[in-house]
Order: sequence, then C-alpha cells, then structure tokens
Amino acid sequence: MGVSFDKIDGDMLLKFDVRPSANPTSEKDRTAKLADPGFGRVFTDHMAVVRYSQAKGWHDARVESRANFALDPATAVLHYAQEIFEGLKAYKRDDGGVNLFRPDANARRFRNSADRMAMAPLPESVFIDAVEQLVRIDRAWMPGGEGSLYMRPFMIANEVFLGVKPSAEYIFAVIASPVGSYFKGGPAPVSIWVSENYTRAAIGGTGAVKCGGNYAASLRAQAEAIDHGCDQVVFLDAIERRYIEELGGMNVFFVFDDGSLLTPPLGTILPGITRDSIITLAKDSGMRVREETYTIDQWRSDAGSGKLKEAFACGTAAVISPIGTVRSASGDFTINNGAAGTVAMGMRKKLVDIQYGRAADPHNWIRKVL
Ligand SMILES: *Cc1c(COP(=O)(O)O)cnc(C)c1O
Repeated sequence: MGVSFDKIDGDMLLKFDVRPSANPTSEKDRTAKLADPGFGRVFTDHMAVVRYSQAKGWHDARVESRANFALDPATAVLHYAQEIFEGLKAYKRDDGGVNLFRPDANARRFRNSADRMAMAPLPESVFIDAVEQLVRIDRAWMPGGEGSLYMRPFMIANEVFLGVKPSAEYIFAVIASPVGSYFKGGPAPVSIWVSENYTRAAIGGTGAVKCGGNYAASLRAQAEAIDHGCDQVVFLDAIERRYIEELGGMNVFFVFDDGSLLTPPLGTILPGITRDSIITLAKDSGMRVREETYTIDQWRSDAGSGKLKEAFACGTAAVISPIGTVRSASGDFTINNGAAGTVAMGMRKKLVDIQYGRAADPHNWIRKVL
C-alpha cells in the first residue's frame, strides 16, 4: 500500500487570495539592494503560500507579505526532514516583459519529488500559478541585465507529531530572490574535488529528487572540496566508486574531440532541466549526445590524451560553468588548459538567449508572465 492523499484533484484550481504588503520596501532601499544582490540573501516583499491537510486537501492559497512561519518545535520537518524544493528563474526581456523558463518541468519534477518523499502531490497548475503570481506582484524586484529573479518553491511537513510517518499536513510556499550573475566575473572555470570519502546517492535512494536532505548530506564533502582549494565537489557512484555522477547541485557534461557530448545517465542523479535542455539543443544542432557512464579514470586519461576537449557543469543557478581543474587524493589534472571551452560557452549563450527572449524558442520553453 502506498501513501494515499484523498483530496487531490488533478485539475484542481485554487484561487489565490492576493494581499499586497502594507509596508513594502521603499524604492530607495530596493534599488540599493538590487545594485549588488549576490545570490540568495536578498528577498522580495511577498511570498505565495498554500496549505494542505488531510481533511481539507490543498486550501488557503495566498499571496501575502513575506513573513516568518510559526512552527511548533515538534513540527515533523524539523526532525525527519520531509522537505522538497525547486529552483527556477524569471528573466527580464528587453521589451520589459518577464519570461519563465520551462516552469511546467519544475512543476512536474516537484510532483515526482513529493511522491518519492511520501508528501501530498501539488497540482502542477497550482505550482505554476503560485510562481507566476509572485513574479507579478514583485515585478519591481526584477533585476535587469544578466540578473534574474530566482524563484524558490518548497514544501515542508507541518504536522506536529514526533512519530515517524508521512505528515498529514504540509505547507507549500514560494519565495523570490533577485540574483546577479551567479559566479562573480562571469563563468570562470571552476576547480572540482573528487569525493572519495563520501557519496551522494544510491540506487533506490533519493538522489533523483530535489530534497533538502540530499544537500545536508553533501555539505561535508563540499567542505572537503573547499579545504583542498576547490570550488565544488564531484560525486562518484556509491557501488563501484568510479562512475561520475554529478556535482553537489549541478549535472556534468563532457565534450570530446569528435564533437560529441557525454553526460551520465539518469537514475541516481538529479534530472536537471538545464541538462535536458542542453541535450535537446545539442541534438538540434546535429551533435551526437550520449547518456552513458564515464569513469574518473577514463576522464583523467582522456584529459591527458587530448581526447577530452571540455567538461562543464550545468544547473539553473549558474547555467553553465566550465570545469578547469580536477583534484583528487590520487592527483590533479586540467582540462582545456584550465580555460573555458567554446562548446560550453556557445551552449551557455544559446540557452541564455532563449531564456531572455533574445532568440527563437523552437521547443516552447518560454512562458511569458508579463
Ligand atoms: C537542482 C539540481 C540540479 C540542476 O537542475 P536544474 O533543473 O538544471 O536546475 C542538479 N543537481 C542537483 C543535485 C540539483 O539539486
């Protein structure tokens, strides 16, 4: 028997009660904050919130002033980490309008994450509506240029109970954070540390879903990467400890001298929307793309022989980050002499141009919010 959630209707439409903040941030303070927002520390004035209980299903949908949640110390999420999240961005077009990029894919992944974590599934229409409403009410917070508004939908188990079971109550919320370019100084190549002591995901585990617990478990490995002078950590598979999986929060691609691309197959990795978009765009342009396993030893030897031309990481926050150096306990190697590669940079431009509405959108990925 699975977990059952009776009150979910796939086509359910919830109407959001929109209550604009009575004392929004002044234009002067907002302008100052938008001048150099960095990543994830500046927030807009509002949030979207929807509640779930077994008795009422999803209810009480609101867009309201961003505020603290009142949580009982025995709230389930604080103890057993029944929590999932998403990350997507709103982009300002040159004509002043605003684009979302593939929000339907985030909504679907959120439902899959909820299913794996035995949480109440949120109708995809409610997810998208919540994101769109928040973008609209906080449109004054949209950065221009290469900035964007990072949207963070998430869901927490809200039942007050210390027993171990799926919660009977949930809070779904969306907050928004204006961000500048993710890596200061543009997409400079990153150095990555090969984690040999820690793994991220095993078959049957939660590697393929976006849950906070995966991140909690990755922090020690990330700290080890920093200790070794690296920007990020790359994880290997949990069984043979040699197949490349992904970084703590980004998928990886390899570019070969025959012009082909390789990326690790789905399974224990997070099915990135950026990953999927890159595969599609690469195939559009006639490149061969393989979703195949690749070992750390092969990576090292291909980098040495020149068969491997480039490697890059990808995800919504940073789009594409070239990988310049790989470090591990058994030695270091560089890729493309530590410089950003043309395939990575070309792919980055292609994606970003679609996101900001500067290029054609042949796959209908863009959803205009404003
Ligand atoms: C979110 C995430 C990614 C990237 O997914 P996108 O949909 O491209 O943003 C990759 N790996 C992990 C572990 C993630 O959590």
